[in-house]
Amino acid sequence: MTAVVKPAQIVAVKGFRDVLPDESARWRLIEAEAFEIFSRYSFEEIRLPMAEKTELFARSIGTETDIVEKEMYTFTDRGGTSITLRPEATASVVRAAIEHGLITADRERRLFYCGPMFRRERPQKGRFRQFYQIGAEVLGRDDPVVDAEIIILLRDLLDRVAARGVRLELNSLGDGRCRPTYREHLRSFAAARRERLCANCQRRLERNTLRILDCKEPQCREEMAGAPVVVDHLCVPCADHLASVRRLLDGAGVSVDLNPRIVRGLDYYCRTAFEITAEGLGSQNAIGGGGRYDELVAALGGPPVAGIGFAIGLERLAMVTEAPTAELPRTAVFIAPLGDEAWATGLAVATELRAAGRRVELAAGRRSLRALMRQADRTGARHVLIIGVDELTSGRGTVRDMERKADHPLSVDLGATGGELAAQITRLGGTAT
Ligand code: AMP
Repeated sequence: MTAVVKPAQIVAVKGFRDVLPDESARWRLIEAEAFEIFSRYSFEEIRLPMAEKTELFARSIGTETDIVEKEMYTFTDRGGTSITLRPEATASVVRAAIEHGLITADRERRLFYCGPMFRRERPQKGRFRQFYQIGAEVLGRDDPVVDAEIIILLRDLLDRVAARGVRLELNSLGDGRCRPTYREHLRSFAAARRERLCANCQRRLERNTLRILDCKEPQCREEMAGAPVVVDHLCVPCADHLASVRRLLDGAGVSVDLNPRIVRGLDYYCRTAFEITAEGLGSQNAIGGGGRYDELVAALGGPPVAGIGFAIGLERLAMVTEAPTAELPRTAVFIAPLGDEAWATGLAVATELRAAGRRVELAAGRRSLRALMRQADRTGARHVLIIGVDELTSGRGTVRDMERKADHPLSVDLGATGGELAAQITRLGGTAT
């Protein structure tokens, strides 16, 4: 006799996780709140492909960034095109807006999205290789009012989902006129300390100097503590823009701290940059961030219009929200057909009740009434509809009220339509939803 070999189990890819029902119920609440807020601010949803031509990210995020240098899932498809699973969605939103003519000189466009992003980072608490972002972009506006509006929207959203211990911080990254001079100041400051910086920062020194400011290594933080900050080197228009954003936020009663060390990881940001962090998340404490990218649309072949946007990490936001763990909806009616002859009626009644909007569980199999009642109990159903031989003969199902733990003296007409059936069950004992 040959031994039966149990097939090996297949588990998920490292860094790619399953979102199980309890967690996804909570996500749904957060998404629903976010969609509601987006709608109040006149955003429309855009659904984007998960893969793009690699060049899109190289050109927008920048070849010298950590994301493009070492974190992208890039492959050559069978047609020889280099394709990348999107590491973020701003570039895709802009690409789609240009491709479909959504941007015109005289009309701004407000778009939001929600979906998975992919970065091959080292997985740890709160950091995954597939993670979800909710984000929004405004294309075609360069005035500070829209910057303030975006930050107020974020505040609204965080309040709405009762996010705990969150901080919103603001900075300006200057623009093509003032940033190069600042970068030179920063570079000389860091170069004088080169030997004491981590290997990563030594590389960043020539290629992505600003990122040295947000290195997490304690040694680098200490060395760079007195480094020049960009807000001290802004040109007049950038300084005015920042001052206006702060004044507008003050006027709206939204408090945002200035943090001159926010640099953001992507090349395309200019002027306004902001980040949301939360306490209690350990080293991965960034919940979201965003900023202005006035050159990006043109750099991707579109009209010369400005843009601003943000993205929030759904996993991390869910970790700090007090939104009640959504209760899974309760089964309204558990149908217990006793014996094969009752299956067809059970299925027909279930279909009717479902068409009437009820959440129904239909048991099948050859189990005793006792076993079925135990099963019904586990589902939390309010009512059990029993269909045995007697019920089939009389055409009237017996209804048991699980809260009162009693058979109802009345029964329901098995031949009734969904709405009538549901109404009969509701009349028999409490609500059936
Ligand atoms: P970023 O585009 O890097 O600013 O990311 C925006 C937000 O997405 C972050 O603040 C995080 O909340 C989330 N995020 C980014 N990378 C990851 C990751 N690898 N795993 C989980 N969440 C992430």
